[in-house]
Amino acid sequence: MTQRDTTLMLVEGEQLPVVDDTDVLVVGGGSAGLCAAASAARNGARVTLLERYHHLGGMASGGMVLVLDDMVNEGNEIVTTGLVTEFVERMERQDGAVYPPPEDCQTNWEMWQKWSRWGCIDFHKAGMPQPIIHAVAFDPDAWKRVSLDIVRETGVNLRLHSWFSDALVANGRIEGVIVQTKAGRQAIRATVVVDATGDLDVGIAAGASHVDGQYIVTTVFRLCDVNTDRAEAFEYANPEEYKKLDRAARREIGGAWGMWWLKTPLPGVVWCNCPHMPGYDGISVEHMVAAEYEGRDRMMNLLRFARENLPGFENARMLGAAEQMGIRQTRLLQGEYIVTKDDITSRRHFRDTVCRGRDYYTPYRALLPKGIDNLIVAGRHYSVECEAQKLSREVPPCMAQGEAAGIAAALAIKGDTPLRHVNYRAIQKRMRAQGADPGDIPSPNALVEEPVVAK
Ligand SMILES: Cc1cc2nc3c(=O)[nH]c(=O)nc-3n(C[C@H](O)[C@H](O)[C@H](O)COP(=O)(O)OP(=O)(O)OC[C@H]3O[C@@H](n4cnc5c(N)ncnc54)[C@H](O)[C@@H]3O)c2cc1C
Repeated sequence: MTQRDTTLMLVEGEQLPVVDDTDVLVVGGGSAGLCAAASAARNGARVTLLERYHHLGGMASGGMVLVLDDMVNEGNEIVTTGLVTEFVERMERQDGAVYPPPEDCQTNWEMWQKWSRWGCIDFHKAGMPQPIIHAVAFDPDAWKRVSLDIVRETGVNLRLHSWFSDALVANGRIEGVIVQTKAGRQAIRATVVVDATGDLDVGIAAGASHVDGQYIVTTVFRLCDVNTDRAEAFEYANPEEYKKLDRAARREIGGAWGMWWLKTPLPGVVWCNCPHMPGYDGISVEHMVAAEYEGRDRMMNLLRFARENLPGFENARMLGAAEQMGIRQTRLLQGEYIVTKDDITSRRHFRDTVCRGRDYYTPYRALLPKGIDNLIVAGRHYSVECEAQKLSREVPPCMAQGEAAGIAAALAIKGDTPLRHVNYRAIQKRMRAQGADPGDIPSPNALVEEPVVAK
């Protein structure tokens, strides 16, 4: 046992072992947290990454959200690069990612038939066929493997099976956190903390302002032994009959986007990003148990219907539901700047933009809570209005937020300065050096105004 392992911290009369003392502690190993950890480590910080489950990826892997969206703006310019690109290329090398080559990104029926069932379409566009765009279908286990490879290579200290439970706050700073493990409660000291829990767990414990958001939840699942060639051939040869069957299938599942099944990199395995279940609070144990029952009942209804009625699905079987309930929105930070729906829809550009998604820009201030000097957030719980979050929460922009937050954390350590004093231009510069697009240069369709004053 090392000296560090035996250090004790007295918390409310209880002696807790201090299992780590680090520059940057990232809480949550989802897409945003992994990128924050890797980015901070590559910028010279000692980093610890904390995750409650046995795998990395959060919604992207454990929640089986299997298409990377919101990567291009209207001009078909790829806007989420850096670690996003690295991730895609690494998964592709393991046969775990599929996406259209640039020459296939067109709007015609030929490309529609080739790519729509991979989910590589611009679903924001009305009219058919929708344009084929750069989006990536991936395999959840490839995501987990690539995450572990990156953690190992960057020297990040990984602590899985560790559930963040409280923050130790003094004088507007988080001095450390308390973690629940099978081996009991443990303490970790950190100079800077990145909250990448998706639900603002650290921010709430430290007293950050927030709103309680809510959106549909989903028990995502996959079916195997589907003859996708046959299913697609039937759909294109009998569009009217297919439409009727598809409508009936969607009634069985009770709520789904336009395409309830999509192909995955595994032959014969399809991804079902449904059902849509409104009215559930992703923080409530009671609600999540009820959603589990409801979601699984609906999945089996759909499977039965598909086997009996849909060509290509005759031998389909349930491969299984995602390990994690699909939670889109819970608690959102109300930080130094709160991104509005109008910011997103008008494509408002901010002088301190440090990352971006499809035609939207994220200011550095939207990652910073008020009143806590050494905490930064990254991911779906960033500082944003509920309606705006629904439009800006996809995996690649969450990764870009993580990459920027990791840089900010490392710069704060280097400069021995509070996060709010880190120069956003320095973050933009490092993002570019890492191959990421910080959004400092607005696209031609952006709304460029004088910088908005913090709320
Ligand atoms: C059903 C569904 C479908 C979606 N479809 C798409 C899509 O098609 N394309 C797309 O790009 N995006 C999609 N999204 C959105 C996207 O998946 C998420 O917004 C994004 O993955 C969020 O990433 P994150 O890292 O911010 O949070 P999460 O992925 O939620 O990661 C948070 C991590 O923190 C860990 N954690 C949480 N609390 C604690 C704690 N107390 N202690 C320790 N660890 C903790 C979690 O286990 C998890 O690993 C979808 C989302 C859902 C739910």
